[in-house]
Amino acid sequence: MQPAALKGICRLPLGNRTFTASSLAEAVRHSKTVKALILPASDDLLCRNLMCEHVGDPCICRLSAVLEKLPNLEHLNLSNNNLSALPESLRRLSKLETLDIRGNQLHEVPADLQQQLCSVQVLI
Ligand SMILES: [Zn+2]
Repeated sequence: MQPAALKGICRLPLGNRTFTASSLAEAVRHSKTVKALILPASDDLLCRNLMCEHVGDPCICRLSAVLEKLPNLEHLNLSNNNLSALPESLRRLSKLETLDIRGNQLHEVPADLQQQLCSVQVLI
């Protein structure tokens, strides 16, 4: 399947009051209302920070900073991004309900994070 087609499918119909962002820029623009951030195979997760050791590769540095601004996030889809780590700021998403991290280089969710996210449905 083409990445573009995937992105279309993953715009989940989550109800009227749910704002779904499909890019980090969109998420920042609507930071207070965004409830779902859907980033499967996203270019947004390729690092463009020249100061970062992962520049040009999949990286969570930008995502991590954006997540800190999304207090109402309930659904986070990071599938198929080749990520090898999860952002620390994930721990502060107190309203998170689903986390999709399939298709990454993550073999498990760190135990302490798992505890914190005990009510979250994690797809791995
Ligand atoms: Zn980076």
